[in-house]
Amino acid sequence: MLTRRAAVSLLAGCLTLVASSLPVAAQNAGRLKVVATFSILGDMVRNVGGERVEVATLVGPNGDAHVYSPTPADGRRLTEARIVFTNGLKFEGWIDRLVKSSGTKAVKVEAAKGVKPLKSEDEGHGHGHDHGGADPHAWQSIGNAKIYVANIRDALIAADEAGKATYEANAASYLKQLDEVEAEVKGLVVKIPPERRRIITSHDAFRYFEEAYGIDFVAPQGVSTESEASAKDVARIIQQIKREKIAAIFVENVSDARLMERISKETGARIGSQVYSDALSEAGGPAGTYIDMMRHNIRAFSAALSS
Ligand SMILES: [Zn+2]
Repeated sequence: MLTRRAAVSLLAGCLTLVASSLPVAAQNAGRLKVVATFSILGDMVRNVGGERVEVATLVGPNGDAHVYSPTPADGRRLTEARIVFTNGLKFEGWIDRLVKSSGTKAVKVEAAKGVKPLKSEDEGHGHGHDHGGADPHAWQSIGNAKIYVANIRDALIAADEAGKATYEANAASYLKQLDEVEAEVKGLVVKIPPERRRIITSHDAFRYFEEAYGIDFVAPQGVSTESEASAKDVARIIQQIKREKIAAIFVENVSDARLMERISKETGARIGSQVYSDALSEAGGPAGTYIDMMRHNIRAFSAALSS
């Protein structure tokens, strides 16, 4: 005679077996289909939605959502979706046109709704940002990520009332993990000597991080990631690093290692490891999830700034 508990686990085992032998399309039947515009947001939606939700991410790992060109497949994903999650703050300049051309009936939800926007200082350089004044990189503060999670949870409940308890439980557990990472970030910043909390980055994407955690990020003056730095640009960066006593350099999308080595040699600023601002790494990489990304970045900053 089976105990009730054993019977339940036996039944669960059978269900798993049945599910895994079905084609993927059948497994996904009945799941709430949603779209997230970029990888960081897609990861958050997956965490809150869990098994009830099928998430299609438009701009994948290592992709640049600022300058994305949608494909016909993206249009089809939108047509099938019940919700389209966007960052908002004019991060995805291409999304409105895509929504319109797809004819989707999906609800559009801006995950950043309710965050206190910082003013963008990214005019005249950067990589083609046009944010109409607001800096869109709000997820770089974990406090803001918690607002994203609440917005995602509420939108999923509105679209799928039967999943309310699941979405609430998933969100609560994810928010707890976010609290833990935030405590780790703050703990590592405190250990960096205050006068060393200055970093230079090519892409001005860390201002919410700066505001929340107190590391200064300085963008190199007059350098675009879309063109190669001239000798004059390099000289100016070197002067800037010396003048502003910047301890470490983090540069994205710069393939010329010699340039960075030269700048590092002439200034004594240390070159940090690759950091992630607008996109996750491939799954299993150093920043395969939002939480791993935040953890990876603070460890990289901390390693380069601590003497
Ligand atoms: Zn950006």
